[in-house]
Amino acid sequence: MYQYKGLEDTIAAIATPAGQGGIGIVRISGKEAIAAADRVLRLYGGKTLVQCKSQTVQYGWAVNGDDILDEVLVTLMRAPKSYTAEDVVEINGHGGMTVLRTVLGAVLNAGARLALPGEFTKRAFLHGRIDLAQAEAVIDIIHAKTENFLRQSQHQLKGELSAQLNSIREELIRIYTMVEALINFPEDGIDAQSRQEIFNRISVQERGIVKLLESSKSGRMLKEGIRIVICGKPNVGKSSLLNALLKEERAIVTDIAGTTRDVLEEAAQIKGIPIALVDTAGILEPRDLIEEEAVKRSQLYIKSADLVLLVLDHSCPLEGRDMVLMEQVKASHVLAVVNKVDLDGKIDISVPQKIFGQEHVIKISALESQSIRELEAKIVEVIHCDNNLDSHGIIISNIRHIKALEAAQENLQGACRLMNVNTSLEFISEEIKTAVNQIDAITGRNIDEDLLDRIFSEFCIGK
Ligand code: GDP
Repeated sequence: MYQYKGLEDTIAAIATPAGQGGIGIVRISGKEAIAAADRVLRLYGGKTLVQCKSQTVQYGWAVNGDDILDEVLVTLMRAPKSYTAEDVVEINGHGGMTVLRTVLGAVLNAGARLALPGEFTKRAFLHGRIDLAQAEAVIDIIHAKTENFLRQSQHQLKGELSAQLNSIREELIRIYTMVEALINFPEDGIDAQSRQEIFNRISVQERGIVKLLESSKSGRMLKEGIRIVICGKPNVGKSSLLNALLKEERAIVTDIAGTTRDVLEEAAQIKGIPIALVDTAGILEPRDLIEEEAVKRSQLYIKSADLVLLVLDHSCPLEGRDMVLMEQVKASHVLAVVNKVDLDGKIDISVPQKIFGQEHVIKISALESQSIRELEAKIVEVIHCDNNLDSHGIIISNIRHIKALEAAQENLQGACRLMNVNTSLEFISEEIKTAVNQIDAITGRNIDEDLLDRIFSEFCIGK
């Protein structure tokens, strides 16, 4: 385990967000946490924290000499039963930045130093309470945009990803030991059966990694979301479709900063995937410079979209403007949404079917909320996001994990290839060892200091 020098220090920080709130927390962790806290606390009944039991809450005041800084509740968690696995004191005061800074200042004067971003979680990792994949889940939980992703991150924090990686690791080490034994005792010889057994066992682990990697596409979408652009000529029902999608999901609708007169962007969720829905203005023949700019912007949105919903009107024959739009979007991922099916059909649906493929044309009525659920299912299908992936419920979404797993998979594939061509076993053992190192980098058994610092710097101060 890598040795971290700063562990001797007692650290402190405001653990609640900047701004005003009901309560605010100053968190202290380290060998001197309880002593430092006692220097700034006057507890009800004249006790000191040193005398109090672990996992208890005390009432009192934060003080600076004779000055009362705040009325507080103090939570005491002694090592190792705390977030960091060190002695931790949390001073719950009133939730204003000035009062919290004053209390923090007193704690720093009493012997603690200001914590770096993520340093509390880093200590939990360094003391072995959680591994690195679990520590990274903490950031994901804080940043989760949807309940679905939050659930995935909770699984990761519980150690489910780590357990699966460790089981792959253990089997790889068993295979490695077998290969090394064959190298070290060549007199026993290696028969075709042993070669086959090694090959099969490596293949099984390689497939396990592939399965985890297959989940990463969905994982990235769950984490980062996708951008869907709605376009179509005026009056086909773009805004109505947007509203129907938002309503169906009872979405958390927020206006995203930068909303312009011509392009409206809203945040929503479809089946737990965060979606940015962009309703373009639908201007096709710009009348002035501003509208020209709007058209250019719409086109940029279409190009950058993960999926374009091209809305057509079921109750009107296709016209030139529809054809121009179909031409413009056809290079993108497109679903043609034929809206207003509640009205008599005058559209020749075979045209969009020919351009986009029959399975990419769907009929709906935004006004009557007809087939909106089918449209959502179709959206999820075309963006290939299967949110019920079965890799024991584990979904990989962290780029660092994806890269390490890809490298490990390459090593195992390499090992299998070498087994097939009867190469010397030394090369195979090297490939297996490198694959194990890749897996160890994910859980943090084997990781360099710089990378560790980079990972934890993404955290907020106080976490
Ligand atoms: P946009 O200009 O493309 O955003 O179109 P709107 O959403 O503003 O809709 C234009 C008109 O079509 C409005 O009067 C809507 O009520 C109507 N409309 C939208 N969707 C439907 C639908 O599914 N059926 C019917 N009958 N009318 C619709």
